[in-house]
Amino acid sequence: MSRIEPKLFVVSGPSGAGKGTLVALARKRRPSLGLTVSATTRKPREGEVDGVSYFFLSPEEFKRRVDANEFVEWAHVHGNCYGTPVSEVRRNLQAGSSLILEIDVQGALQVKEKFPEAILIFIKPPSLAVLEQRLSGRGTETPASLAIRLENARGELALADRYDEVLVNDDLETACSGLLRIIDTYERN
Ligand code: 5GP
Repeated sequence: MSRIEPKLFVVSGPSGAGKGTLVALARKRRPSLGLTVSATTRKPREGEVDGVSYFFLSPEEFKRRVDANEFVEWAHVHGNCYGTPVSEVRRNLQAGSSLILEIDVQGALQVKEKFPEAILIFIKPPSLAVLEQRLSGRGTETPASLAIRLENARGELALADRYDEVLVNDDLETACSGLLRIIDTYERN
């Protein structure tokens, strides 16, 4: 039987590509996959829980943690700060299973620099038009934040070729099978 080694996977792609839903489904199918809780200065959306969805921090507290080197990576995304706490990565690695970071492209490239063995997976929407429909459909964005996210999406899509794997999220089930297949392949090599 081939050996299975825990790996660090980084999933990113434009806002609205469906990364969150996709990663949540992959974890449901494979509960042993670790997922880190990020910190952000963004205000909680309805239903989001501190310490579960994110650690919601004030800009001052976020900066204090940046200065204290408490993040593996951090970035300004859509006007707020987001970062992966070192403590979250440690907690998951101690559990001995593969780990997924669901972060933006700037953060993903920082992780790859620090951990070249990390596997970067880019989640692409079928098209920019579909991305726009999904973003406006979820009703969480103001016209201004929708415009920022679409503008950022163009820049992010241009970075897809720096990733180890690119997965198009058209149909959720198909994309989830694709993601789990990628994870299996890397864990066995
Ligand atoms: P949202 O505000 O919609 O929850 O997330 C906005 C963006 O921030 C998403 O693209 C998400 O992947 C990214 N993000 C979430 N957590 C982190 C993190 O810890 N680091 C970085 N660099 N980006 C993150």
